[in-house]
Amino acid sequence: MTFKCIGISRHRIGTDGVGVTTLVGGHGCPLDCKYCLNPQCKSETVPLNLTVEELYERLRVDSLYFSATGGGITFGGGEPLLQAEFIREFILYCKERGEVWRFTLESCLAVSEDKLAMLDGLIHKYVVDIKDMNEEIYRKYTGCSSSAMKRNLRHLTPLSERVIVKTPLIPNFNTAEDTLRSKMELEEMGFSRFERFRYITEIKKARDLPKTT
Ligand code: SF4
Repeated sequence: MTFKCIGISRHRIGTDGVGVTTLVGGHGCPLDCKYCLNPQCKSETVPLNLTVEELYERLRVDSLYFSATGGGITFGGGEPLLQAEFIREFILYCKERGEVWRFTLESCLAVSEDKLAMLDGLIHKYVVDIKDMNEEIYRKYTGCSSSAMKRNLRHLTPLSERVIVKTPLIPNFNTAEDTLRSKMELEEMGFSRFERFRYITEIKKARDLPKTT
């Protein structure tokens, strides 16, 4: 089993919560966000293809930083849950070696529920970008239905204190009122930690903007 990786970014401080972290970017994504800032995750060329042992060897160079600061590894992407089997194997491998790293998962949750469930009990923090809770807005922006994302959100409700939900303002697709509606819906589900922000679109033009906007 190997991990298709678009890049590894070391020595991140203050970006993933506690401590020093290393971001491991997974290749591939099921969504087609119009303002995608990681289009390389869909390129046909995969920069790195790593076994569990090879990834561990690359990451363990910072083990002392992780242990000393309470940091660890963040799996992002692309959509890392597309490779949930590998991530599970990897975390178990690290635990067997006595590593006390924290594991964070950054996800859009647009995958089948079994992928998310595979990591139950192994992830310390989830950062989920739900785009918008409104099906029509979600579909226009991502090209996909929101049903998988919503199923997975329900799966995470018992762990809500570990979950940060991103509710972005997406120019040309939703409004501040829409983001507020999403936040209220999420609060009703039991989530209480949010990150509200505006997608920066000046550097990246939207592809195929809907004709109605
Ligand atoms: S979820 Fe992220 S990586 Fe996937 S298409 Fe959207 S912005 Fe790009």
